[in-house]
Amino acid sequence: MSDKPAPPSSVGKPLPDVADPFNARFWQGLGQNRLLLQTCSDCQSPRFPASRYCPHCHSEACEWLDADGAGVVVSFCTFHKAYWPGFAAEVPYSVVQVRLNNGVQFFSNLVGVATAQMVIGMKVQPVFERVSGTEHTVLKFKPVEGLVP
Ligand SMILES: [Zn+2]
Repeated sequence: MSDKPAPPSSVGKPLPDVADPFNARFWQGLGQNRLLLQTCSDCQSPRFPASRYCPHCHSEACEWLDADGAGVVVSFCTFHKAYWPGFAAEVPYSVVQVRLNNGVQFFSNLVGVATAQMVIGMKVQPVFERVSGTEHTVLKFKPVEGLVP
């Protein structure tokens, strides 16, 4: 068993629906190394995934604003089985739940961190990872240098 990350590959893995009308701006932003979040124009709450109505005040008014992506790991788990063929070479791999400082949460992966080194509360920042063989960019995270507890 190795914690060495395998090189990213898109073969045999699910890809996001980048044409989804609500979330297209999010995926376009990732392609520009930007973390764009749909933000309510009335109560200023950011949200992901994007939606027609603000879950806090039910407003339809929104804008897309850059987020710095700073956050912490709030949970993680390790997969020892590949549920998609494309993950077989990467087993075991870990999935993290990250909460940004603005409250938005993502499920993603940490890059450059062995599973044994993952810690809840680890401060992270975004990584914009191009998916080989596609035009997709996915959001991953890496530890903030010097701030790992
Ligand atoms: Zn709102």
